[in-house]
Amino acid sequence: MHPLEVTEVRVKLLDGDVDKLLAFCTITLNGCFVVRDLKIIDGPDGPFVAMPSRKLGDRCPDCREKNPFRARYCSECGRQLSSQRAPKDGDGYAKLFADIAHPISVECRQMIEQVVMKAYETERLTAASSEDEDVIVAEDRLPEPTVAKRGRADSAQTRVVPAEPAPENVAPEAGPGADFAAGIL
Ligand SMILES: [Zn+2]
Repeated sequence: MHPLEVTEVRVKLLDGDVDKLLAFCTITLNGCFVVRDLKIIDGPDGPFVAMPSRKLGDRCPDCREKNPFRARYCSECGRQLSSQRAPKDGDGYAKLFADIAHPISVECRQMIEQVVMKAYETERLTAASSEDEDVIVAEDRLPEPTVAKRGRADSAQTRVVPAEPAPENVAPEAGPGADFAAGIL
C-alpha cells in the first residue's frame, strides 16, 4: 500500500471575523486526489484544522423547507424551530455537522494537520509581509502616481493568494459549500 502524502496545500486566508474562521484550505493527496474546504478555525487553544463538513438539518413541520439544525426560524415561512431538535452525540453535544472526508487514524490526522498548519503559517507570514511592501511602494512613489500604480500591480502579481476574499465567499450562511472557492483556489 502506498503511504499517504499531502503533495499540495492551497490556503485562502480570511479576516477571521466570521465564525472564527481563519482560512479555507484545499489539499492534494499523492498528487492525484483533491479534498477541498478544510478549515483553519481559531479555537480556544489556538488555531486548529477542521475537516470538510456539511451542515445537518431537518424539514420545517409547516412548509417542508430544509433548515440547518442551528437555524431557530424557518428560512422559507419564518416558523420558530425548536432549539433542541438536533440529535445528540454520545457526549451529549448536538450533532450539527457531519464530516465529508476525514482521516481514520491518529497518525494520518496528525500528518495532515502538520502539513496544513505549516502551509497556513507560511501563507499568513507571506500575506503580512506583502502588505508591508505595498505600503512602502505606495509611499516611495507618491509624487509619481502613474509609477506608483504600476509598482503596486507588480507586487500584487507575486502574491500566491489575494489578501482580501471576495465578499460573497465570507457570508456566514454560505457554509462550506463546494462552490466556495470556485475560481479562487
Ligand atoms: Zn417553514
